[in-house]
Amino acid sequence: MILILIGPPGSGKGTQAKFISDRFNIPHISTGDMFRQAMRDGTELGKKANEYMEHGNLVPDDVTVALVEDRIRCEDCNAGFLLDGFPRTIPQASALDKMLERNNRVLTKVILFTVSDDILVKRLSGRRTCRSCGKISHVSQGINNKLDKCPACGQEVFQRDDDKPEAIINRLAVYKKSTEPLIDYYKRKVLEILADGPIDEIKTRMAEDLENIG
Ligand code: AMP
Repeated sequence: MILILIGPPGSGKGTQAKFISDRFNIPHISTGDMFRQAMRDGTELGKKANEYMEHGNLVPDDVTVALVEDRIRCEDCNAGFLLDGFPRTIPQASALDKMLERNNRVLTKVILFTVSDDILVKRLSGRRTCRSCGKISHVSQGINNKLDKCPACGQEVFQRDDDKPEAIINRLAVYKKSTEPLIDYYKRKVLEILADGPIDEIKTRMAEDLENIG
């Protein structure tokens, strides 16, 4: 089972990805998480990615494609995998096609999350990330300054540069320009999920739809 999740930033892809990855017992591969981990580790990749990420721009295709190619070669991907946040451009999608073809593998489905822009802006601007474990929380959970603690591990939370207002506007524009064309590219494989309600409702809706592809 090879799945791709596509959706604007803030559409809840990361949250639902964990559920899908458990349901099908396939690894969850998030390029955003991989770049953030590289930044925390202070690697060259992390430094390079940060230059783009802090403004809400995309990391160049060659860097991103190489990262994914390495990751899906790992043994835990033999039975399939779930890509979250990749591909994000047509060149990345065609690079993925070639990787899959070379290994005689076939993409199962593309899950598309759709949400209105005003909900996305509210979700993203209230988002906080744990400096230590990376868990995401929201100011509506009572975490509203950097002295507040992560609900999972008790460490400090902060607002990602790319969750600040100018970067959010840019990320949504980048999504529309570079990523939305993928909906047409993958047309016949797309399963659309309306993702603008509470997390549990979306999860239930998605679980029903996923039964048909499992
Ligand atoms: P995400 O956590 O998926 O919203 O990703 C956060 C940021 O990481 C994005 O705004 C980009 O700067 C970078 N990024 C993640 N995935 C990709 C990708 N497939 N192509 C280029 N940049 C990416």
